Amino acid sequence: MFEKVLIANRGEIALRINRACHEMGIKTVAVHSTADADAMYVRLADESVCIGPPQARDSYLNIPAIIAACEITGADAVHPGYGFLSENSRFAEILEAHGITFIGPTAEHIRIMGDKIIAKKTAKSLGIPVVPGSDGAVTNDADALRIADEIGYPVLVKASSGGGGRGMKVAPDRESLSSALSTARTEAKAAFGDDAVYLEKYLGQPRHIEIQVIGDSHGNVAHLGERDCSLQRRHQKVLEECPSPALNQEERDKIGTIVANAMQKLGYLGVGTVEFLYEEGQFYFIEMNTRLQVEHPVTEAVTGIDIVREQIRIAAGLEMSFRQKDVVFHGHAIECRINAEDPHTFAPSPGVIKEFHQPGGLGVRVDSGAYTGYRIPPYYDSMIGKLIVHGTSRNECLMRLRRSLREIVVDGVKTTIPLFQELVNDPEFVNGDYHIHWLEDFLARQ
Ligand code: ADP
Repeated sequence: MFEKVLIANRGEIALRINRACHEMGIKTVAVHSTADADAMYVRLADESVCIGPPQARDSYLNIPAIIAACEITGADAVHPGYGFLSENSRFAEILEAHGITFIGPTAEHIRIMGDKIIAKKTAKSLGIPVVPGSDGAVTNDADALRIADEIGYPVLVKASSGGGGRGMKVAPDRESLSSALSTARTEAKAAFGDDAVYLEKYLGQPRHIEIQVIGDSHGNVAHLGERDCSLQRRHQKVLEECPSPALNQEERDKIGTIVANAMQKLGYLGVGTVEFLYEEGQFYFIEMNTRLQVEHPVTEAVTGIDIVREQIRIAAGLEMSFRQKDVVFHGHAIECRINAEDPHTFAPSPGVIKEFHQPGGLGVRVDSGAYTGYRIPPYYDSMIGKLIVHGTSRNECLMRLRRSLREIVVDGVKTTIPLFQELVNDPEFVNGDYHIHWLEDFLARQ
């Protein structure tokens, strides 16, 4: 097992990883920018190294500074968390060249899944259902028209190098396809420096359902069920739940087994998430995230499995500590992302938290580095914490969530808490009756 892990991240996820390491008897090194010197994750780590000024490109994305921090502290592994360098295959390779373990999959698998067209081809070849569309990039309008006629309108034009929901255009009919293609190409070129685009059938009201998967270097693979992340604003997840209100046990087992078998064939190492759109009983692959995800705690609550601990064990060459047959799903969990943002306009609201009180009691988990007096820096993501609530049923989980949202206090900055207080009483949400566009409609009604 590793002696010392350097956590190449910040905020709640750095704290989360620090907790797993300490439980395993592993020493930790926090790295931080000058803006994060007072952060809770820095205080709770065994050692800390300042790696640069506030801007992420000069600190959390600064590979030479992070390698230097590893050398200075003698860390033998790096956990990248999510975001920042977590899906940077070059970073994984550089660490390896320095004899430091990257806690994550192989650089090759990160690279494959990082390119949308290659990822989709790979998924298809592994037996994962994909959205009908073009086989790779479409280079001319005549081809595009022919393919779109085959898949049927509306179609979605997507940028190969796209990300964060950018570089997509819907063509509702044949007449609008060429203009959608040229707009998408121009936007893709400007945003990603690559004008390759491809076509997909556009799904009207799908849910976003993702499967958590895990594999070790001894040939063991398991899936940990699904998360429903359909509640999104501008393609950003806002609330996630496990299990999905839309799936039954049979459907869960079926898609979970397809994904686990695919990962076994690929020889996938560590934890990953295969994301699908789900409509009328069909799953359509959209992408794979080759890292830990923000919403992993809902799966932990329902399965009782510490996903970060498993990640560390696997990276150290050990077997994962359970097999598929040991995975039992208990009850229901919901996560709310608490962002320092205006709950109506979503404008960021950095500043000092004057009072912070976190809810507690049975089934309540708060992953947050916030505290009374904490100054939220303006340079990074606005998520300041996650409220994760577990109950024996979805109904109990909702009861507990409502009272937790009454208990939580974050004063001094605006947060998304009022949005969740409204949401948990909405009849459609309470019925689990929603899709990926539902939240934007709900917000427009407020
Ligand atoms: P990105 O990497 O930019 O996040 P994704 O391929 O994951 O791109 O898609 C982002 C979001 O766009 C999805 O969560 C979904 O809301 C929407 N989307 C993607 N593909 C389709 C599709 N074929 N039909 C309808 N919506 C889609």
